[in-house]
Amino acid sequence: MLSLIEKILFIAAVVLSLYLSWKSFSTLIKVIYRGQSKLHLDNLSSRIVQALSVLIIQKTVLKTRFVISFLHSLIAWAFLLYFLVNLGDVLTGYIHNFHFLGTGIVGNIYRLFVDIFSVLALISMSFFLIRRFIWGTERLKIRDNVLLNEKAKSGMRKDSLIVGFFILLHIGFRFIGESFTLCLIGADLWQPLASGLSILWLPLPESAVVFMQHLSWWLAIGLILAFIPYFPSSKHIHLMMGPLNFLTRPNRIAPAVLEPIDFENDEIEQFGVAMLEHLDKNQILDAYVCIMCNRCQDVCPAYTTGKELSPSALEINKRYFINENRQKLAAGKESEFCLLDYALSRSALWACTSCAACVEVCPVGNEPMFDILNIRRDRVLMESEFPKELQTAFNGMERNQNPWNINEDRLQWAKEDDGITVKTVEENPDYEILYWVGCAGAFDQKGQKTAQSFAKILNKANINFAVLGNQENCTGDSARRAGNEYLFAMMAEANVETLNKLKVKKIVTTCPHCLHTLKNEYPQFGGNYEVIHYTEYIYELIKQNKLSIKKENQIKVTFHDPCYLGRQNNIYNAPREDLKSFGFKNIEMDRNRNNSFCCGAGGGQMWKEEENGNEVIRQNRFKEAQATGAEIIATACPFCMTMMSDASNELESDLQAKDIAELIADRLID
Ligand code: SF4
Ligand code: SF4
Repeated sequence: MLSLIEKILFIAAVVLSLYLSWKSFSTLIKVIYRGQSKLHLDNLSSRIVQALSVLIIQKTVLKTRFVISFLHSLIAWAFLLYFLVNLGDVLTGYIHNFHFLGTGIVGNIYRLFVDIFSVLALISMSFFLIRRFIWGTERLKIRDNVLLNEKAKSGMRKDSLIVGFFILLHIGFRFIGESFTLCLIGADLWQPLASGLSILWLPLPESAVVFMQHLSWWLAIGLILAFIPYFPSSKHIHLMMGPLNFLTRPNRIAPAVLEPIDFENDEIEQFGVAMLEHLDKNQILDAYVCIMCNRCQDVCPAYTTGKELSPSALEINKRYFINENRQKLAAGKESEFCLLDYALSRSALWACTSCAACVEVCPVGNEPMFDILNIRRDRVLMESEFPKELQTAFNGMERNQNPWNINEDRLQWAKEDDGITVKTVEENPDYEILYWVGCAGAFDQKGQKTAQSFAKILNKANINFAVLGNQENCTGDSARRAGNEYLFAMMAEANVETLNKLKVKKIVTTCPHCLHTLKNEYPQFGGNYEVIHYTEYIYELIKQNKLSIKKENQIKVTFHDPCYLGRQNNIYNAPREDLKSFGFKNIEMDRNRNNSFCCGAGGGQMWKEEENGNEVIRQNRFKEAQATGAEIIATACPFCMTMMSDASNELESDLQAKDIAELIADRLID
């Protein structure tokens, strides 16, 4: 129970804290609202459920680094519980003889729960402080070749220290305060830990115990009042902003679906993102949400192989830039610097493979990949600045409708194999399914082999299919991921016009990049089709007993999940089932399914040299495949196929890459 002076002082402190907090939070909100687009609130009920489940169940946190994440979750749960605890403690301080939630079963369980949880949270927090400041875990560091705000280098540690000690002191003094209270009123069976501690205070005079009880109350509750205005500047804000991010983020059909640009709109002066305020609101919010855990960095193929790109450094740099320029940004002033001046280097910008591993792993729903792809748009569309090798691919797509820039018959692959029958939509207008061959199938030697194998499978299953032949254009996937949205829009419009004119309903494709673009991005251009990957289609044929299989000895293979098949389209089982059905034994690599490691070709990388690093991405992945002891790397993507084959040659390995279509076609009974 507080004295009258203490009660008045506390009210004054609350008013001051609320005033400072309002100033601090309103600035934060103004900065977020400098962003483009809107915070999404459609389907609010399901968004609320998702945000609450993230907060309460901590499911996005617990999906990786389980032990560490569980300890972190204990702190997050304590944070939630302490909303209630603090309310109870304030009421207890103001109301004479008040027992929060009573002295019955509810109150007893509440006290037991708080008693145990407080100690667990203290242990967890101590662990994190020791881990960061004494063990100095490598995972929390960012390599020197990555652009990182100078203040962030020491500031991140300082912030972690402040937040860590705030939690320790807040929960610690609340726990100790309870022990002083119990020393005065006697032990409580429902607070065994605080009761145990209270024994220590028994030799003290009562006045000293009362003094310490009051001091603990002030240190526990008063600390919150001091901390709330600091909240928006600290990384602790993620506890609020994380759920807000899940509440307001765009509902993307797939992680890499980019928004189209309206090139007809004369009012748009800026294409893509150059400055912080060109980002969407959610992307600015990402900077506040980031907990600087480096999970995204751990899984990033560019960072892993020594490039200058760290998705976490990108978010941290944004945060520090905002903190340094908060007032100007909130006042609506234009940023003095471009993101490429402080958030990521040019080499980092062009190192991203758009694999979406960072988006998949982030526990708070951040999407650093979108910043990168949108900055690329600015470079390409506004400044015409991009790696020169990409020019050949852009020219090829524009002039010859394929990034190889080959001006030849797109049906050569079918004409070269006498064993298959492939008809175009003109020759077979009553087709049931359209086979979208893709540029690799048309022009790349290995891709052609895949296309021939898949056509053989379709023939064997008596499927009535057709191809577009020379009516097919590149889908433009590489152009979009490389920032050339204008070119992508041209390709998309041309393809959609063809497909709609032919009234195409169902498409099967051997390329996951075509799959992603046709299925997830062409609806933006009026193209709505059922699009399936050939591994899914083959699995359907197997289930319908339409394919007869040779009973041969099992061959050990390891399946490499393509990013645009797995993370983008959630297709993990079909390729594995296909392999199993045809007698292949799949030995999983350590990084598989949604944790698969990129081959290095996505995001336009296929058409350029890798940025400087200490390892080639494809070789990193290839070595992982070698370590399984498999005889073959099974792929289901022409880009992955090229990368794994190149790595095999570079490393002079006997381990060969083969497409699943090829593996299966070789095992069909004639
Ligand atoms: S999309 Fe992939 S390569 Fe790009 S930043 Fe994220 S993890 Fe790194
Ligand atoms: S972006 Fe997400 S995964 Fe990366 S450091 Fe921040 S919170 Fe962690």
